[in-house]
Amino acid sequence: MNPYLSQFGLDGKFAIVTGGNRGLGLEFTKALLGAGADVAVICRSGQADEAVEAAEELSRKLVVLKADLTSDEDRRGVIQRAAEKLGGLNILLNNAGIQHRAPAADFPMDKWREVIELHLTAVFDLSQQAAKLMWETGGRIVNIASMVSFLAGQSICAYTAAKSGVAGLTRAMANEWAGRGITVNAIAPGYFATDMTASLQKDPKRNTEIVAHIPMARWGDPAELTGAMLLLASEAGRYITGQIIAVDGGYLLR
Ligand code: NDP
Repeated sequence: MNPYLSQFGLDGKFAIVTGGNRGLGLEFTKALLGAGADVAVICRSGQADEAVEAAEELSRKLVVLKADLTSDEDRRGVIQRAAEKLGGLNILLNNAGIQHRAPAADFPMDKWREVIELHLTAVFDLSQQAAKLMWETGGRIVNIASMVSFLAGQSICAYTAAKSGVAGLTRAMANEWAGRGITVNAIAPGYFATDMTASLQKDPKRNTEIVAHIPMARWGDPAELTGAMLLLASEAGRYITGQIIAVDGGYLLR
């Protein structure tokens, strides 16, 4: 195969995707499987039927681990367990997420803790666990950031704080682990139709405001995130580290 194209391939690689059972994570899982990787999905429900079907169709291995990633106890050793079931670890995709909307003045502390725990603390914990396994071999860590890694958002202060933290954490880990051949990058998606954004899609005023702000004048299709992910997860991206790559139809331009 053309060497310029084959560097995007993932034959023989092992990847873990948190929240890889639905939404953007399912699309990432399908892309990783399609590029040749075996995949472990870690999710809260343990239900990953669509991902299992996709793996069967492609004759790839898919394992599912049930874990609440806001829980210290559930996180302990989970990357090691996933890697053992897979047979190795080359790629970690920190994707699992939740949202809670409330004005900052009334934002409940329990929701603040949950959002920060999942979007920031778990990303650090799982990345640290993965880096230990990648220490001698190198590897790829891809985090999912957001437009609010750069901007403020509306009524999502915990999410904004966490996703801004993900940008800083991505740079910090990239800087410390580059010498071990571990790249750490993030993708910052614009607006994509998933369960997480259902309330925005349904609200005609917010939906109109969002589309008016996007130079490409439409929401993204989750499949449009997979090119950036495969670049960062594969040999093609081996000299890229510490970057936050926006895939947003131009949202940040305005
Ligand atoms: P969805 O709501 O569609 O999916 C969320 C995923 O996270 C599910 O797989 C869910 O697993 C998993 N999850 C939630 N809580 C936990 C937990 N406590 N422990 C383990 N897994 C958990 O979200 P999206 O696909 O939209 O979002 C994916 C990522 O992309 C998130 O990090 C989000 O912040 C980010 N993002 C999304 C954007 C968008 O427009 N959709 C824009 C920018 C960023 P289960 O099904 O088992 O509950």
